[in-house]
Amino acid sequence: MTQTAIYFDNSFKDHVSTLDYPERTDRVKNIIDLINKEEFKNLSILKPDQVGYSHIYAAHDKEFVDDTLNRFPKDEKIVFLDQETPVSIGSFDATLRAAGAGINAADNIINGNFTNAFCIVRPPGHHACYDRSMGFCVFNNVAIAAEYLISKYGLENIAIIDFDVHHGNGTQDIFYKNSKVHYYSTHQYPLYPGTGDINEIGVGNIVNVPLKAGTNSSQYHLAFDEIVLKKLHDQKPDFLIISAGFDAHEKDPLASLNLVENDFKLITQKLMSIACQYCDNRIISMLEGGYDIQALERSMIAHIRELQNYDTNS
Ligand SMILES: [Zn+2]
Repeated sequence: MTQTAIYFDNSFKDHVSTLDYPERTDRVKNIIDLINKEEFKNLSILKPDQVGYSHIYAAHDKEFVDDTLNRFPKDEKIVFLDQETPVSIGSFDATLRAAGAGINAADNIINGNFTNAFCIVRPPGHHACYDRSMGFCVFNNVAIAAEYLISKYGLENIAIIDFDVHHGNGTQDIFYKNSKVHYYSTHQYPLYPGTGDINEIGVGNIVNVPLKAGTNSSQYHLAFDEIVLKKLHDQKPDFLIISAGFDAHEKDPLASLNLVENDFKLITQKLMSIACQYCDNRIISMLEGGYDIQALERSMIAHIRELQNYDTNS
């Protein structure tokens, strides 16, 4: 069995490729070359399929999905789905393959072809709500993957861990009353999108860890261990999905937490240990934010290095 699948497609470079915007093509332009340079021994790079519409409908309002798909431009103009969510002619294929990566990863991991997967996708997903695109996110990639694991494979106890610096309001919205999915988020607070208060608990399945601007590595890990890891041990999930945003990095221009690459390595190690104890090691990780290009590239490599490292860590 191959340890790690990397899902990537060149269409992810074609999403709003002409726009000078934080969520831009440069974020993923070099990543496959960088992965190849690492000469990972137990990794496959795969092209994701387009998601079937029925899988998007499982996480989102059908009317919203159909309306959104009709709004993608068919010429060179840029359309804004909300104030911060532009789409271009290349976005249609990218959006469908970004969500499709989670579906492909789910099938391959459940069927034993891979242990874990990192989907290096654009557009990201965690701000996309049940009936609304927002914050660079068209559809909610991790939510679509979780709904698929529930409907196709009958899983009933999934954990989504979101370490992006922004609160994943969309993921929380979609699963707020669904106890089959527990959602854990560490995020700077207050910050965009404004949600993620500690009192937002859903049906006991939502765990928000709001962090002050300036939070450093040791403060972050204290909160992560004391709250997120403890609650994960209580939950004993059968599958881990990670909303992997790397914008809590100290160099990130959109936020003010002070993590470094090594922290993403440690977070990944900790989540691998949970997956080892409860999930038969199964993890789907999907890229969310991260806007300093070099910090993002180094952090993604640190994340992949740990996903590769199961044998030596356990
Ligand atoms: Zn973010």
